[in-house]
Amino acid sequence: MKVYDVIVIGAGPAGLSAGLYAGRAKLDTLIIEKQKYGGQIVITSEIENYPGGTEGETGPSLIERMVKQTEHFGCEKVFDTIQEVELEGDVKVLKGINDEYRAKTVIIAAGANPMPIGCPGEKELTGKGVSYCATCDAGFFEDFEVYVVGGGDSAVEEALYLTKFARKVTIIHRRDELRAAKSIQEKAFKNDKIEFMWDSVVEEIKGDGIVESMVVKNVKTGELTEVTADEEDGTFGIFVFIGYKPQSALFEGKVDMERGYILTDADMKTNIPGVFAAGDIRAKSLRQVVTAAADGAIAAVQAGKYIEEHE
Ligand code: NAP
Repeated sequence: MKVYDVIVIGAGPAGLSAGLYAGRAKLDTLIIEKQKYGGQIVITSEIENYPGGTEGETGPSLIERMVKQTEHFGCEKVFDTIQEVELEGDVKVLKGINDEYRAKTVIIAAGANPMPIGCPGEKELTGKGVSYCATCDAGFFEDFEVYVVGGGDSAVEEALYLTKFARKVTIIHRRDELRAAKSIQEKAFKNDKIEFMWDSVVEEIKGDGIVESMVVKNVKTGELTEVTADEEDGTFGIFVFIGYKPQSALFEGKVDMERGYILTDADMKTNIPGVFAAGDIRAKSLRQVVTAAADGAIAAVQAGKYIEEHE
């Protein structure tokens, strides 16, 4: 069976950057992606802070160019879901649903997934009013009311994006102060369409096949309020942006982690020789496209060095 030089797990900015650098270094490289290229960035409406980015850059447009670049440098790609990994030893084995893959080095760039609120009704009504992606679902709420849960950069940026569609956007935040960067906060405070429900958490989402109401609790007073859909609308949107969970379950007990995030050194090396991690799955202080891309580049260069030293 073929043994690749490098297998990258995940085709978000970290994985694609790793693929680009590995391919360009003439390493025989395969990127394995579970669903679709881009990871979380494809659900991002606007990318303002990727250096040199053009105005109006979206997640999908940036990813499309990244994918093309990896192809240009001869990086192979396959869609499969890895279910089992054997990372010790000189040849790493990755078992997917469709096939088994082998490589001298592995770069784990599987990213993170949106965190759910975890309240009753949320799961049942996902895609029926509950969403984790404004870019994907904002269009369904043209002239409706929407609620955004969270207070970080994602919540506030996506709330701003949603004002282009919804007639009113209410940010529900569990504290009385936003976590988002000051520049983003300022835009939100200036926007007439945005309102705030401070010190509040969503306790339950209700509806028969579509969101009709939700119960919100004031964490300071304990008071419960049922927010119901405007009678004419019959529904409203709930967009959840309360952080992300690393997709690292597959590597538990195999690679050193902290709170589910994979630990690496500055060269993206994990505790296992020949195994690297890059991007949002890694324990780090700043999770951005630019840091994911940087991680991927470093991991690929280090994978090349590892191969050289072991030949
Ligand atoms: P985040 O920074 O972790 O913020 C999560 C927000 O959700 C916080 O306000 C948090 O409240 C709240 N929250 C967490 N758990 C909750 C729960 N169970 N119930 C209710 N609220 C909850 O996540 P993020 O906004 O998705 O951002 C993730 C990373 O991406 C950050 O590093 C961020 O800077 C970065 N990012 C950057 C940009 C940009 O630079 N343009 C855009 C998007 C994301 P507390 O504040 O009380 O903890």
